[in-house]
Amino acid sequence: MMTEEQALERILTHADRGSVALLPLAQALDHFSAQEILASVPNPPFDNSAMDGYALHVGDSEGAQPLRVKGEQPAGLDRRLTVERGCAIRIFTGAPLPQGTDAVIMQEDVDVERRDATTWIRCREPVTEGENIRRAGADLCRGQRILCVGERLTPARIGLLASQGIDTVEAVLPPRVAVLTTGDELARPGAALRSGQIHDSNGPMLHALLSAHGISDVTVEHCGDEPADTERMLARLVAAHDFIIIAGGVSVGDRDQVKPALRSLGIDPELWRVRIKPGKPFLYCRGDTARSHGEANAAFKAPPRQVHIFGLPGNPVSAFVTFHVFVRPALLHRRGASADEIRPRTALAEMSASLTNRGDRPHYMRGRMADGKFITVGTQQSHALFALSQADALLRLDADESAAAGEVRRVILL
Ligand code: AMP
Ligand code: MG
Repeated sequence: MMTEEQALERILTHADRGSVALLPLAQALDHFSAQEILASVPNPPFDNSAMDGYALHVGDSEGAQPLRVKGEQPAGLDRRLTVERGCAIRIFTGAPLPQGTDAVIMQEDVDVERRDATTWIRCREPVTEGENIRRAGADLCRGQRILCVGERLTPARIGLLASQGIDTVEAVLPPRVAVLTTGDELARPGAALRSGQIHDSNGPMLHALLSAHGISDVTVEHCGDEPADTERMLARLVAAHDFIIIAGGVSVGDRDQVKPALRSLGIDPELWRVRIKPGKPFLYCRGDTARSHGEANAAFKAPPRQVHIFGLPGNPVSAFVTFHVFVRPALLHRRGASADEIRPRTALAEMSASLTNRGDRPHYMRGRMADGKFITVGTQQSHALFALSQADALLRLDADESAAAGEVRRVILL
């Protein structure tokens, strides 16, 4: 049986990056950049005031003599004011600094006096050189790299691009994804259950996981355990999607029809069964739309392309864990994410109790983080969806590995 690392490596070596499009900033959120961008404008672009106050010569703030306010510079067009000794300029946050000034005194630190038509200020405390001035380029210089290929377009990065006067960005388009739930026992949420039936939870859960990972174009389908139905459904999905995530039907039971159905479409498993708990029956294959003989595909006459097919075990916790370990990195890779962005977010956590994995496969244990401690939640069985719903972290314990109470371990944040 393959290890997780081997399985993931296999999956990622075949994963291609999606196509690139020029997106308006308003549509770019959470996409990954396909271009490197260098700053063409420094930040700040010019010396400006960090406060509402008065721009002056530092030397003039030291004595007790009043300074004549000879003009006003609001944020906006530079009035190109100059200041001689003994004078000050009324200035506001973001306004360009007048010539000849080297500090801004906050308005709270001056006494203002109006005599005739003239305003005078007296500094209560001296200012130091550069005080309350935001110097050009202090945050960012021209030519500095502001965006790398594979970086996520976060709200702050979108703001940064806008500050450079950029309104579009080359980003990788997300794949079209289908979720296929399988099983005669499943009823739609909302439908009444007959004896022996359960509601389909994987469909909504996988849909939600995909949305949470930036995939908005998701089709969710269901088929029973009939081989011919499964084959027809898969042929249809292969024709119109880049990723297909199947839940259930990938185990070794007589009713596990997914592999035979894929084989009939000319799609052989790239890998099946991985040393991981939960999730051992995990299946991955690549379909070639030129080879798989779906009728729908012939009708589309689309150029041949590769479809990545993931078969997750039907038990909800197994589906959830294998999504995180295998599907998530493959999706992010496809979406153009860099290795840094693909790596899961982790944190150090103190074990609240000792934990042992007595099994022969690495175990992803579900738990909660509280005050820096990792506490396992509920039963650790693969059907335990309530326990999973209480978890916000995963602890990976190797086969035969133990973690002692109080020990600090790295956990994966969900
Ligand atoms: P399978 O992998 O098809 O053998 O299913 C393993 C277990 O997961 C069985 O108990 C199924 O009833 C359950 N299961 C399969 N698919 C789903 C689903 N979509 N929602 C909830 N449970 C499921
Ligand atoms: Mg099944």
